[in-house]
Amino acid sequence: MAVAESDRFGGTCVNVGCIPKKLFAYAAHFREDFHVAAAYGWTVGEPRFDWPTLLANKDREIARLNGLYEKGLTGAGVEIHRGRAEIVSPHEVKVNGKTYSVKHILVATGAWPYKPPLPGFEHAITSNEAFHLERLPGRAVVVGGGYIALEFASIFNGLGVKTQLSYRGKRLLRGFDAELGERIAEEMSAKGVEVCLGCEPAAMRKVKDGSLEIEFTDGRLQKADLVMVATGRRPNSARLGLEQAGVAIAKDGAIVVDRYSRTSIDSIHAIGDVTNRINLTPVATAEAMWLARTLWREPTPVDHDNVPTAVFTDPNLATVGLSEEKARERHGEVDVYQASFRALKLTLTDKKERTFMKLVVDRKSQRVVGAHMIGADAGEIIQGVAIAVKLGATKAQFDATIGIHPTAAEEFVTMREKASR
Ligand SMILES: Cc1cc2nc3c(=O)[nH]c(=O)nc-3n(C[C@H](O)[C@H](O)[C@H](O)COP(=O)(O)OP(=O)(O)OC[C@H]3O[C@@H](n4cnc5c(N)ncnc54)[C@H](O)[C@@H]3O)c2cc1C
Repeated sequence: MAVAESDRFGGTCVNVGCIPKKLFAYAAHFREDFHVAAAYGWTVGEPRFDWPTLLANKDREIARLNGLYEKGLTGAGVEIHRGRAEIVSPHEVKVNGKTYSVKHILVATGAWPYKPPLPGFEHAITSNEAFHLERLPGRAVVVGGGYIALEFASIFNGLGVKTQLSYRGKRLLRGFDAELGERIAEEMSAKGVEVCLGCEPAAMRKVKDGSLEIEFTDGRLQKADLVMVATGRRPNSARLGLEQAGVAIAKDGAIVVDRYSRTSIDSIHAIGDVTNRINLTPVATAEAMWLARTLWREPTPVDHDNVPTAVFTDPNLATVGLSEEKARERHGEVDVYQASFRALKLTLTDKKERTFMKLVVDRKSQRVVGAHMIGADAGEIIQGVAIAVKLGATKAQFDATIGIHPTAAEEFVTMREKASR
């Protein structure tokens, strides 16, 4: 068994994705934590934030993880080739000028941020660069309406950057429950992010004072010190030798695979972001496990149902199962239960943040088909709820579960009133 890696071990998630992003999100939330602490009687001096300290500590932790991943591979007896791999034929891979004959080839090359080809957008950064900024900008514009854009808007805002989130659509987080998209825009605005919906950039230029000027399609001009685009990611499938090996590639660059992650060539499989199915780390990992089972035990198809996911905005947001809209499409009649309240922790403060929870229930079977939340630790809470949803629990079974008091999570088992629709 051998692996070829052209960059650092751990891939996107460890180096320029989930892990450093969440560390940044923790850093950003301290601003509010200091205020909350004061309401609980603590006196803290004027808080000051030092970006180089965060970067250095983050880099040290990532280097530790890089080492752990490499150790894990060598410990398992995997041969490591440091270099860019290319497929030569259905059973041959070339790395660093040497060609290796193999029985199976697995492509797990991930994805890369996509920058819209607009004039001047070479001055914009992507999430890749956001993890290594020399200094924090005074003013930032984050372009996009997906989870990466929202997370970075929250991070910049929390770290004291005057932040605008510009999205060409009318509602954030396309594909999520519509209410989540609407409410997160309100919550982020309340925290200081300027959320601009229906705002589509047309061009950008560097101006005399060194800052950037974005021109929007409605003619509006906006100055910023940093523009970050989070307008999607494209599968890393180019220049890999896939076409000449006969591997089918979709229009968006995704490697076409079946339910067993097999490409159009029997000996070549593909998993993770390069297949553009559900682009999340635990999904890529699960696809790898299912594939290993398929190749060496028994055919095991991928299971992409009820994948929970979180958005580490401030406040956090998390979801599992179907949005209300999708549930109506699939099941026809649904019952919706929801709660909106101020978290106990904030009651001693002047913070107005609302925790929002929602259950979507298929009326006929009474199964909970969707659970959604905005609020502190939403990801931690939804992970537990996801087990019940995955097992097909009914609303009555949710209700029969005793809550843990006082928590926010207990609301998920105490929602009695159907929301009027
Ligand atoms: C900013 C950001 C935040 C994210 N946050 C989250 C999150 O909170 N939770 C979550 O679940 N997911 C998150 N993701 C998504 C997650 O990072 C990806 O879904 C996950 O990394 C996909 O894993 P992968 O193995 O398919 O690809 P990758 O992790 O991208 O790994 C691909 C690897 O292949 C290597 N490679 C590419 N081409 C070659 C070649 N020709 N030869 C040799 N090596 C090659 C690359 O160097 C890379 O190491 C985030 C992504 C981003 C960008």
